[in-house]
Amino acid sequence: MTESYEIYRSFGISEPVFALGEKTIESLAARFARIDEIAEFNQMKVLAAMQKNRVGAAHFAATTGYGYNDSGRDTLEKVYADCFHTEAALVRPQITCGTHALATALSAVLRPGDELLSPVGKPYDTLEEVIGIRDSIGSLKEFGITYRQVDLLPDERFDYEGIRKAIGEKTKLVTIQRSKGYQTRHTFSVAEIGELISFVKSLKPDVVCMVDNCYGEFMETVEPSDVGADLTVGSLIKNPGGGLAPIGGYICGKEKYVEMCAYRLSAPGLGQEVGANLGLLPAFYQGFFLAPTVVAGALKGALFAASLYEPLGFRAVPNSKEERHDIIQALELRSPEAVVAFCRGIQAAAPVDSYVVPEPWPMPGYESDVIMAAGAFVQGSSIELSADGPIRPPYAVYFQGGLTWYHAKLGILMSLQKLCDAGIVSL
Ligand SMILES: *Cc1c(COP(=O)(O)O)cnc(C)c1O
Repeated sequence: MTESYEIYRSFGISEPVFALGEKTIESLAARFARIDEIAEFNQMKVLAAMQKNRVGAAHFAATTGYGYNDSGRDTLEKVYADCFHTEAALVRPQITCGTHALATALSAVLRPGDELLSPVGKPYDTLEEVIGIRDSIGSLKEFGITYRQVDLLPDERFDYEGIRKAIGEKTKLVTIQRSKGYQTRHTFSVAEIGELISFVKSLKPDVVCMVDNCYGEFMETVEPSDVGADLTVGSLIKNPGGGLAPIGGYICGKEKYVEMCAYRLSAPGLGQEVGANLGLLPAFYQGFFLAPTVVAGALKGALFAASLYEPLGFRAVPNSKEERHDIIQALELRSPEAVVAFCRGIQAAAPVDSYVVPEPWPMPGYESDVIMAAGAFVQGSSIELSADGPIRPPYAVYFQGGLTWYHAKLGILMSLQKLCDAGIVSL
């Protein structure tokens, strides 16, 4: 075979696994070309925002203490705002993760007596405690903020009639989660989110529409902020950090609401003026610059996995033909052994901790044992190649990320190799 097979062989990839991989990739040429086209557009969008705001070397300087007059931080926020086409943005290392960014936005806008509505069913697990769906210290519920939810219809469309009934006098904020997270529904396109926001605003124009944009950034040429979202929120250790941001979150939106978020994040009276950058700005700028291509690589990996596993008889969600709106791929592997083998393959392909052998363990908060594979530069980063699977039927693994397409490819080939080695798949 080719020179390229030689290097894969040194990783323990057999000839049949490699050959199947190459054949699969050949069949994906048109899809990959479309992914590259979107990445190219988004690259130009980021570049234009950086040029417009005259990003210069002086903006990379570290600040400490209060961080007053931090022009690097302020300029980065203008770059984000321009990319998302919003009036303002808050992009900070003091926002510790996606959940924190979302909790900040919710508690910034909502006041006692207000009601929060999710018209797209149950929100992401960690938000249950933020809202108070599961009791937790300091939840919105403790502050007298009520919550309502309208589930999707069985065919996963929005329940417009239900939403109409649920929006009332007290409804102040509507939260829309773009990605499916750990649910089985599809991930919404930006167009779908736009329709939902228009509907909500037609019923109550002053309601604040917030989108949990985690995993969705740079998947399309538009973002929820382009279709009417008042606040668009996400994590920097996912897509927009480009794998380089070691921490952080962002909130883009209307000036008025972003300002409220800044007061909530720091303190009333302080707002956006404080918050030292601690030397992280080079990673934030460069990560954002790389993000469109990093997301494209991760997306190719997800598509490759679906296309490789589906013909072998495993269900892929989304399937290999569907349009994709986030970087998460679920594969139903149908046995505990297969989940373990898959995750071990992903781990064995990692640049960090490749020698570690993952085992299922009883993770707090989960009913069944869970196995996780991650060999990441940034702890918990899910824009880096990672996989996890609860050990329960239908024995699905969820995997995502890959800082480069080539690494994602190796990870997926390694996973299949482990399934072959365990006698679960024969080629
Ligand atoms: C990851 C994620 C979150 C939470 O982000 P963390 O950084 O893990 O706190 C919220 N919503 C969705 C849809 C996510 O994918």
